[in-house]
Amino acid sequence: MKDQYHRTINYLRISITDRCNLRCIYCMPESGVSFMPHSEILTYEQMIRLVKLCVGQGIRKVRVTGGEPLVRKGVVSFLKNLCDIQGLEEVTLTTNGVLLRELAQDLGQCGISRINVSMDTLKPERFKRITRRDLFTQVWEGIEAAVSAGLHPIKINVVAMKGVNDDEVLDFARLTQNKPYHIRFIELMPGAETNSWESQAFLSSKEILDQISTLGPIQRVSSSALDGPSQRYILEGAQGEIGVIGAMSHHFCGTCNRLRLTADGHLRGCLFSDRETDLKTALRQGQDDHQLTELIQKTILEKPKDHGMGPTNRRKCTRTMNGIGG
Ligand code: SAM
Ligand code: SF4
Repeated sequence: MKDQYHRTINYLRISITDRCNLRCIYCMPESGVSFMPHSEILTYEQMIRLVKLCVGQGIRKVRVTGGEPLVRKGVVSFLKNLCDIQGLEEVTLTTNGVLLRELAQDLGQCGISRINVSMDTLKPERFKRITRRDLFTQVWEGIEAAVSAGLHPIKINVVAMKGVNDDEVLDFARLTQNKPYHIRFIELMPGAETNSWESQAFLSSKEILDQISTLGPIQRVSSSALDGPSQRYILEGAQGEIGVIGAMSHHFCGTCNRLRLTADGHLRGCLFSDRETDLKTALRQGQDDHQLTELIQKTILEKPKDHGMGPTNRRKCTRTMNGIGG
């Protein structure tokens, strides 16, 4: 289905939990996080029902995210059930990798197309500072286990931050020369806390690309209809790819193809707009498929034109990033 700005909406991100086993500095506070009560979180059956209705409205790709999706019990069976939905072409997962080592084999066999693992540094000490947990080795072993389980190419999400990990942009880019990893640099977006470090730490996709081009010629790779907003590149002779997601500096809203379902059953047209449709209440009231479909269509039609932000104009929405799913 198209929205009122003629964008084809074919990609749904589902946050299956707001809980997480890390506390990344840009996403969650160190302590005092209040999580959604379990009773407010949609069951997997409710999520599957909503996904089927969304597929009826043109959704072709689903990404399962969180919080940390692998902490929710039964996630592998849920992914398997998603993969069985007729008309859905891609099911993918974004994870912090902490539980990947033990789940990689099952994930490799459940039918999902790909995984993204978030990893902002190649240095264990720095990993501890960014995520507030000493789990670098566990995550790295998880990535290797995922490769062995056939889940390649692995995409590695790197939130690029000045004064935090900007000195590793080239190290990550060099990784793609010898390994088939796809590194995706994400611009820092407004997160849980309104701290001034965020605007000072902002590193634009242009600055990232300028650094990478010192390594040699880079070529643009064309995107497919289901791709997200990442601009893709390849270093000459490299095995892997580099992507940059200019969430703040580059307006990709004009081609945004996404909807987002929160763990407590609210459907959003935009990461940064608080306008949501409450599908959970509709489900609990026993509304039928036709009524739920009307609510999904309404959300698509009301999808905002853009997030209205830039590097110097940053604002936050009421929900935190772990609550929406990034
Ligand atoms: N826990 C999983 C993970 O970290 O991959 C999935 C959820 S997380 C919210 C999804 C993505 O959002 C991750 O790649 C994370 O790095 C990114 N993210 C979270 N907060 C962000 C922020 N303030 N700016 C940019 N990216 C952010
Ligand atoms: Fe957890 Fe992902 Fe947020 Fe980090 S970015 S705190 S891993 S939800």
